[in-house]
Amino acid sequence: MTKTTLNITDNMEKLNDGSGRLSDNYNKIEQWNPEIISEIAGYYSRILKLLGEDPDREGLLKTPERVAKALAFLTRGYEADPDEILRSALFREDYRHMVLVKDIDIYSMCEHHMLPFIGKAHVAYIPDGTITGLSKIARVVETYAARLQVQERLVTQIRNCLQENLKPLGVAVVIEAQHMCMQIRGVQKQNSVTTTSAFTGCFLSNLNTREEFMHLIANRLH
Ligand SMILES: [Zn+2]
Repeated sequence: MTKTTLNITDNMEKLNDGSGRLSDNYNKIEQWNPEIISEIAGYYSRILKLLGEDPDREGLLKTPERVAKALAFLTRGYEADPDEILRSALFREDYRHMVLVKDIDIYSMCEHHMLPFIGKAHVAYIPDGTITGLSKIARVVETYAARLQVQERLVTQIRNCLQENLKPLGVAVVIEAQHMCMQIRGVQKQNSVTTTSAFTGCFLSNLNTREEFMHLIANRLH
């Protein structure tokens, strides 16, 4: 639990360059739209009543507002443009070998149950004259993840973003994640991990390239 909280804070700090949402190392500085937060909080107060709770008891007094802010944070990816993030750091470079960023944290929410799914993304590409900043790749992943998602679409969106903006020789993306909507609703599915992948270019046409990528991330996969 503690670890998760820390990682979320880390991710939040990563998002700070340019997103307009800030935190220093000690204090969160929240920039929510107060009207939207207050409207969502109103609905959650009603939901608490419908669940048989008393929204006026002490422990729940600020819960609707907290939930509203948590949801705003978890869907902050709608406010950022992943294409723009990637294009903000393009460099000409005559490097034509695999660039691999492993173990990018994924914190997302499934759009069917609005429950978290949590895991890792591994992203590789082979440049064709253009490279991007490695941190931009992590931010593209984070931005798409911070929207309501299905894992299948998430992996495809990340792949397409790299392919369209970098025009590389190939892109490979693998995501492995655990879905709370499966884990908390059935004893036999508690440790199940869902893996999705998406490839373009030489990762599709060249078996050796794809195998090299899978080998490099293999010790990470379940
Ligand atoms: Zn779900």
